[in-house]
Amino acid sequence: MKNIIGQTLVKNYFKKVILYDKLAHSYIFEGQIGVGRKLMSIEISKMLLCLNKKNAPCGECNSCHQINAGTNPDFIVINKDTNIIKVNTIRDKIIKEVNTKPYQSNHKVIVVNDAHALNSQSQNTLLKTLEDPPNYITIILITDNIDKLLSTIKSRCIHIRFKNLSQDEIMEYLKNKNLSNKALSTYIQFSNGSIGILKNLLEDETFLEKRTESIKFLKTLQYCDIIEMYTLINNILKYKDNIGDILNFWFLWYRDLAMIKSIKSPQLYFQDEEMYLRIMSDQYTYNKISINLNIIQKSKLDIEKNLNSLFVIEHLLLELKKG
Ligand SMILES: [Zn+2]
Repeated sequence: MKNIIGQTLVKNYFKKVILYDKLAHSYIFEGQIGVGRKLMSIEISKMLLCLNKKNAPCGECNSCHQINAGTNPDFIVINKDTNIIKVNTIRDKIIKEVNTKPYQSNHKVIVVNDAHALNSQSQNTLLKTLEDPPNYITIILITDNIDKLLSTIKSRCIHIRFKNLSQDEIMEYLKNKNLSNKALSTYIQFSNGSIGILKNLLEDETFLEKRTESIKFLKTLQYCDIIEMYTLINNILKYKDNIGDILNFWFLWYRDLAMIKSIKSPQLYFQDEEMYLRIMSDQYTYNKISINLNIIQKSKLDIEKNLNSLFVIEHLLLELKKG
């Protein structure tokens, strides 16, 4: 489990229950994307299915290799069909597997990704399996939205909560990446406690540039006249494929303004701009900030719907500038 960052409580729990053979039949792994839920389900499976019982997970036996390759017949992963997990998937994959003995190990693990995508028919079908599974079965439901699961499902599973990673844990991941202090703190803020989100940000080579430009655009907007505003619109439109990202930054900028207005020492996305944000927040009412947040959100949706971006941005800037 060394490759999972943070989640010490969860790691200790599973090491213990596996050591003392007290593993439950069904679990819910709840937490946001990118905090180690899937990785943990893989690590647990390796410990359970490894053929070197004395040294599990050895990482070298056939079973361990097969788990890495996604070909271990005793490690079954269910993904959603489109937006939902259909009842046929439950019948054909889960129930059939539950009723078939393990192929090469003495255990079988079934992982359901995005378990919130199980519709109520699927959940009711799964319920019977959760009520009385054979001894060799462990089922793990992974979700970031536990409210979508029926209470009857929840009551039959042990609920394991994966916390967001702390800033120190994110820092630990970033320490060898050779980043400036400003970049480090930006990545930490925007990763939102998730290694998954962080990895996506690191892969996006223009992330830091877009962030800088987005701030510049907003600062220009604050003091420009109507003619300068059209130059600004042209500059924004140069980012044609990334306008959604720029609007994301703007949303978080106004979110920071709202936080400054309402909380004493807020955690800001734009920590390095705190002085500027504080001065700016004095010029806005809370009501105007929340109106701006709504307009930005709506503009983001309009851009996603492929509405004319010139029109959307022009309208947005005029609205943001309104007193
Ligand atoms: Zn092994």
